Amino acid sequence: MNPSFNLDLILDATIFAVLKHHGLVRKDENASPYITHPLAVAREIYTTGQVNDQHILIAAILHDTIEDTPTTADEIRSQFGEEVLAIVLEVTDDKSLEKQRRKWLQVIHAPQLSHPARIIKLGDKIVNCRDILNTPPKNWNLTRRQEYIQWAADVIFQVRGANTALENTFDSLLSEAEASLNFHLRPFSSVHERPYAPREGKSSP
Ligand code: NDP
Ligand code: ZN
Repeated sequence: MNPSFNLDLILDATIFAVLKHHGLVRKDENASPYITHPLAVAREIYTTGQVNDQHILIAAILHDTIEDTPTTADEIRSQFGEEVLAIVLEVTDDKSLEKQRRKWLQVIHAPQLSHPARIIKLGDKIVNCRDILNTPPKNWNLTRRQEYIQWAADVIFQVRGANTALENTFDSLLSEAEASLNFHLRPFSSVHERPYAPREGKSSP
């Protein structure tokens, strides 16, 4: 067994996340159980990214618990430790903020993310963009799907250099998205023209 890898704790985290996300569903037509998402993120990081760092894998499994469920930081700290908690907090949005503002903050905060948080960000955006292509949220029109892919591309542009295999997988998805959603991604240099960019006159963060 790889010494950096404690399956007991990984399974503990899985049980913890299953219970926390119990009853929550994804936005696809079939309302898949929400837990499929964090598990898919961990799987992507492990299988494609070849990442076997226990803290990163556990944080991937837990990455949406604080954001989407009543999970507290203390619970994660006491069961999985300070290091895992720090990673989870780095990828947790402040849900008290308006959605477009949260989107913008993800873009501008990305360069400050730690290496573990960048890995999770890559896995998360890969899985969500794949979902947009294969099992999109019901009632999302073409424009909304295109805008989501553009936003994900903008965030990931800012964390390049973290894991080549994950980035290549993400880039393939972007090409697939351009073809199947019939649009061209805009370069990061035009990020200030996005719908989620702060309007002129509004103060920046
Ligand atoms: P949301 O942020 O509302 O939803 C996307 C998130 O939903 C993903 O990041 C993912 O988050 C989660 N998710 C759950 N199921 C799926 C799935 N099957 N496929 C992909 N993601 C899934 O979406 P938007 O980015 O569109 O919202 C941003 C803003 O745009 C909001 O203010 C919204 O109200 C507004 N808006 C935009 C419209 C448009 O046409 N562009 C139309 C109406 C509103 P996680 O990883 O956390 O699970
Ligand atoms: Zn997620």
